[in-house]
Amino acid sequence: MPFRAAVLGCLQLVVAGSLASQAAPATTCRSCGNHGVVDCGKHKKAALEQERSVAFCSHAESCKSCEGALRADCKQCSNETAEAELRRRVETVRAWRDGLRKSVDAHSKVEPMLHLQTAHLDLSFGIAKITVGKAKIDTHEGMHLYGDRIEALRKLYIETLEVDEKEFSARLRVYMCRDSRQANDLGPRVTGLGGNFAVGTKLMGIDAVYCMWQEPRGLPDDEALHRNIAHNLVHLLTSNLEPAGYFGNPANGWVDEGLAHWFEDKIGGKCTNYCFEEVLTQQGQTFKAGKWRPAVRAMLDAKELQSLAAIAPKNTDQLTFPEHAQSFAMVDCLIAKHGGDKLKQFLRQLKSKVEMRDAMQAVYGFGPLTFDTEFQAWVAANYSPLDSAR
Ligand SMILES: [Zn+2]
Ligand SMILES: [Zn+2]
Ligand SMILES: [Zn+2]
Ligand SMILES: [Zn+2]
Repeated sequence: MPFRAAVLGCLQLVVAGSLASQAAPATTCRSCGNHGVVDCGKHKKAALEQERSVAFCSHAESCKSCEGALRADCKQCSNETAEAELRRRVETVRAWRDGLRKSVDAHSKVEPMLHLQTAHLDLSFGIAKITVGKAKIDTHEGMHLYGDRIEALRKLYIETLEVDEKEFSARLRVYMCRDSRQANDLGPRVTGLGGNFAVGTKLMGIDAVYCMWQEPRGLPDDEALHRNIAHNLVHLLTSNLEPAGYFGNPANGWVDEGLAHWFEDKIGGKCTNYCFEEVLTQQGQTFKAGKWRPAVRAMLDAKELQSLAAIAPKNTDQLTFPEHAQSFAMVDCLIAKHGGDKLKQFLRQLKSKVEMRDAMQAVYGFGPLTFDTEFQAWVAANYSPLDSAR
């Protein structure tokens, strides 16, 4: 009897044990669905989605409840794995934020900036208010908007020129400052270049850094700001494109500027940003209101277009207004007629210091003289002298 009882007792233990091991998953925690964590209650649903579409946001990090993890421990159940994961996330967000306190906040004496990290971009943002269409948005919303726009621009660049991700080596680092004081405090620190610049300064090549402020005459509204960011970030992308290195000096400024204008026009319908010295003292000046297709058509009709051989030796910062417009049109022609992939191959040859005429021959199979004829015929066929919306 004692023996039999012992066997039964054991059996009961086994049964009880197996029941216990099944009991946990059989009960679902109503609060968290057994994830062990719940959404942080301090953020609206749309805000949670926005924050989860980026890697880090300093505004989310400032939430006292979740410290940027966007989740909280479920009080109704216990899940050690999820809790450990949550702690790790809080620590990762904190380490990211602490790094920016040293590298950026310490050098921007005005208002502290907000910070965002997305897949390919580190953005620090101080612009107080932006009006997009009729909506007025604050610094935090503005930062997410520009984070999305810069990622979209990079994607468009990749698609247009058929770039492989491996051909870029740097993340984009962009500082959109509240005012000139903030930009002048920060610019020299983050680019290593001298301060006292009108709108922005860039560090290009292996690094891809742009620090700017919204100078009110040159960049009076959100559309102008967006075009400025597009123009300058295309310079960063082009210079970082393999082989990484500063491009457009010496020579070949027409490709460097032409491509930056091409994307500026693509996203904003006009070209209003120039990288040349005089612009530092001539903010807000535009050429033909930025509508360059009809302007170039008028130059063709007036026989004012220059030969490629005449423009090609100029550096990016040596082009005149009409030369900027012609450079845009020449790049427009090369992309329209021969595709973005060929333009990228041409760029890579020029960046490898191959002579322009040899690079053109190798990639396109013709030289500058043939290009002049082809370009002028293309302008005649594709650009109207009337200002079209296109
Ligand atoms: Zn729970
Ligand atoms: Zn955010
Ligand atoms: Zn929170
Ligand atoms: Zn430029």
